[in-house]
Amino acid sequence: MICQKCNFQNEEAAKFCKNCGIELTNVNVDKSKKAMRNGFGITGFVISLISACAFGASLDKVAVAEGDAPPLIAVIGFAVLGLVFSYIGFSQKNKTKWQAITGLSISGTVLFITIIGLCFNLL
Ligand SMILES: [Zn+2]
Repeated sequence: MICQKCNFQNEEAAKFCKNCGIELTNVNVDKSKKAMRNGFGITGFVISLISACAFGASLDKVAVAEGDAPPLIAVIGFAVLGLVFSYIGFSQKNKTKWQAITGLSISGTVLFITIIGLCFNLL
């Protein structure tokens, strides 16, 4: 086992470095401290993407004319869900954050545009 501090080559079974005395099992502890997969963040990210797709589809004139477009309430619902899951994911400790942050920005943008559109009767 190679010491992560001084790179001294110790016996495989050694628990402490013979050169500097550091505990050799620290390598594994450091690995477990690495950011873990963020379930809430990923879920929030996926739901946010769905809300963005639903929003895009709700603007599709052909789909609207044929009654196939998702209702705006569904767009808002997905965006709010995306925001909630992303926010929970964002507040998790020691977990990856980029999905949660992306989810927050996507669903936040969708929600913002939808509400502004509704207020000004653009949608
Ligand atoms: Zn050492």
